[in-house]
Amino acid sequence: MSSPTLDRVLDAVFRVDRTFDVKFISEPGKHWLEVAPDAGLPKNFVELLHPADLEQFKSACKTTPDFFSCDVRLIKGVGECWVNLRAYRLTAVDQYVLCVIDISAWRRDESVYRLATEHDELTGLASRSAFKNAVEIQLRSGVPTFFVFLLDLDGFKNVNDALGHAEGDAVLIETAKRLRSVVGPESALTRLGGDEFVLLLNGASVEAAKEVAKTLLQAVARPYDTHPHDTYLGASIGIARFPGHGADYGSLLKNADNAMHQAKRMATSRVCIFSAAQDNTDFSIRAAVHKAIHEGEFYLEYQPQFDINRQLVGAEALMRWFSSDYGQVSPVKFIPIVEEAGLMPFLGQWALRYACHQLKQFHALMPNFVMSVNVSPVQFGGDGFDQHVLDAIAETGVDSTKVILEITESTLMQSQERTELALTKLCNHGIRFSIDDFGTGFSSLAYLTRLPVSSIKIDKAFVSAMENLPSASSTNRKLVTAMISLAHSIDLSVVAEGVETETEFDFLRQSGCNLIQGYLLSRPISAATVLQLMKQSGAVAT
Ligand code: C2E
Ligand code: CA
Ligand code: CA
Repeated sequence: MSSPTLDRVLDAVFRVDRTFDVKFISEPGKHWLEVAPDAGLPKNFVELLHPADLEQFKSACKTTPDFFSCDVRLIKGVGECWVNLRAYRLTAVDQYVLCVIDISAWRRDESVYRLATEHDELTGLASRSAFKNAVEIQLRSGVPTFFVFLLDLDGFKNVNDALGHAEGDAVLIETAKRLRSVVGPESALTRLGGDEFVLLLNGASVEAAKEVAKTLLQAVARPYDTHPHDTYLGASIGIARFPGHGADYGSLLKNADNAMHQAKRMATSRVCIFSAAQDNTDFSIRAAVHKAIHEGEFYLEYQPQFDINRQLVGAEALMRWFSSDYGQVSPVKFIPIVEEAGLMPFLGQWALRYACHQLKQFHALMPNFVMSVNVSPVQFGGDGFDQHVLDAIAETGVDSTKVILEITESTLMQSQERTELALTKLCNHGIRFSIDDFGTGFSSLAYLTRLPVSSIKIDKAFVSAMENLPSASSTNRKLVTAMISLAHSIDLSVVAEGVETETEFDFLRQSGCNLIQGYLLSRPISAATVLQLMKQSGAVAT
């Protein structure tokens, strides 16, 4: 199975204190740095920096202390090496996690590097290939989220026709200046051709991107000083977001372009965010979902989770639907339909209540048993989610510290303030959170460290990929190890999912993974079968 993120490997992870004294280096990191096995850790991270890049590093840290990123040289073995460095501040302990990616191969490739310095002759903006490069670097560096904007001037053709090409050129030059002043000197900004501009925006929220788009429109709306009279122009902006709207440069640009055309068609707004046309959702299944809710066709199965000694410690509740019309329908198919129909808050609440009831029963045999329940991003978006969770716990009288809510990276990325409030409130009641499918959606470490998350679940895609083709598998193993050390460096525990073979199990055990879930040890099973497993493992009713 291929994953768009598999080739983005962190070469080293450091944890350092405020003065950059080194507290931790990941095992692969030590190897990469060529630290001799008997040598101690480098004392201070600054010692590893090339002296010529020290100023840049310090100024990046000073400008945005919570998160900064820079390309610098590190002293490594007897030589030096270009790296992309991303630093995330752990506010609670006032330390930094430094994620390092070796970019020396890319820097060596002169032809690629030269492109980055070419320019659009008219506006002086970077060339199209430089823009493409900037996006591709962004994709490789594992930045959690960014936006590609495509801005097209409205009515520019009239300027050319009525005032001539010289005035037209002047308008384009002035537009480039105005856009640059909005996005600042660091953002990649390019003229695609004609009156179309593209830019790359780093940022976490869609709201922030919309705000920038608004400011860009205002900048274009100011009168242009042309002869013989001023010119008034508008613009339309299409936005594509990574992740979600394309995994490579071509698709991000295409989707931004689609969105821009959509914006031109809309009467109400000149800004449009790409949205995939609802693909042929099966309307008859949709009708059946409504019926199923009324007729109680949904139920839960539980997939056991084991510690590294194969002892049963908990389970993940998984929703099942046996439809009288369609037979067994996979959650991969019905959950998006339920979400789209607006029924997920309802069904999700049901699942949580049901799982808590079941957990209470499990606790009679095994009081430490931990139940994980999936939460869809749309449940978080709904009103009173946190209260519903607390109600379910109160109603069942279950020990809240034995409940883990599995949330996805997209939950973390939507409305941060609201999510943070809900998470913190629930956390204060003892409930824990785990990031599901970790690594597939680029959650920013900054979120992970700020929010009360206690574990990550490494997606099956990564676990299975470890045994792929021999050439790919060593990179994939490196990636899994990097994820585990990264998680451990910020005190998160790690659950590996979809573990199907002894080889995977052994590798994960050796890499320090904490819990294992997968067909190797057990498929999802009924509550009755979980109770049998507990008895087999020696649990006795209290
Ligand atoms: P998920 O949360 O990533 O759940 C793990 C999925 O991997 C489950 O598929 C599980 O049966 C499957 N799995 C576990 N071990 C193995 C293995 O060794 N090999 C293979 N091939 N598969 C394995 P399932 O039950 O089909 O669920 C699919 C997805 O549906 C879940 O992915 C989750 O995103 C969603 N889902 C299921 N129940 C709920 C629920 O109650 N609420 C919400 N919001 N989503 C749910
Ligand atoms: Ca899950
Ligand atoms: Ca998962």
